[in-house]
Amino acid sequence: MRLLGAHMSTAGGVDKAIERGQSIGCTAIQIFVKNNNQWMGKPLTSETINQFKLLQASTGMFVFAHTGYLINLASEKTDNHEKSMQSMRQELELAEALGLPFTVLHPGSHLGIGEKGGVEMLVKNLKTLIEETAGYKVKILLEMTAGQGTNLGHKFEQLAEMLAGIDAPERTGVCFDTCHTYAAGYNIKTKEGYEKTWEEFDKLIGLNKLFAFHLNDSKTELGSRKDRHEHIGKGTLGLETFRLLMNDKRFENLPMVLETPKDPDMKQDVENLNILKSLMPSPADV
Ligand code: MN
Ligand code: MN
Ligand code: ZN
Repeated sequence: MRLLGAHMSTAGGVDKAIERGQSIGCTAIQIFVKNNNQWMGKPLTSETINQFKLLQASTGMFVFAHTGYLINLASEKTDNHEKSMQSMRQELELAEALGLPFTVLHPGSHLGIGEKGGVEMLVKNLKTLIEETAGYKVKILLEMTAGQGTNLGHKFEQLAEMLAGIDAPERTGVCFDTCHTYAAGYNIKTKEGYEKTWEEFDKLIGLNKLFAFHLNDSKTELGSRKDRHEHIGKGTLGLETFRLLMNDKRFENLPMVLETPKDPDMKQDVENLNILKSLMPSPADV
């Protein structure tokens, strides 16, 4: 069974995300464990946690988290530094309480201190947070970014440097976003470029550090450094990248979720998932 699905809303409770995912045939979902546009979220009651765990066990849904959008651990220039630390601490607490295997984090923006300074800052801050949460199982997955503005994490070298600096292999990993990687300048659109990109990824980061995928087509061109998600097959990437990914044996056990634009009844998710499934040979063809 492939772990395939989409980001799901937790409106009405975290367990509702599992129900929503299941209603459209997802086997994997990504959630926010708290409001993604606020620093701090409500603590989860033990009843909520139990309900979530029961439903997860009975459905077999693979669930992982994405951290809130306000968090920036790559700069201490703003007064938001302490808020970012507190917010990330809570992300880890809530994800751990729900028993989630990992939470995806944007490496952050250096806001003028430069890439080197930003990487050092991120390493320092994540080391602190990992020490503070010693004994936790939840991993922090650094997401490959498009490199918009002063965003870090748009080069494999940078992600590798971060992982090496944090030096906590059991608590860290990488999430690969197709839209971001293409916008960052890696040409995964052609077979040749796709193979070359993964060779480089393996050499610099290591395929064993890869734990999840965000499947998004891109509204912008190769190297645009702009983060604009598009429906699968409707963007500048087109279907070929997704055909290569869906049929790549190296990734067949990794969770892959959509972060494409959504409508309330999730019809667009269904359509995107159907397109992805159609790219794999059906059992009858094998
Ligand atoms: Mn993200
Ligand atoms: Mn993403
Ligand atoms: Zn994005």
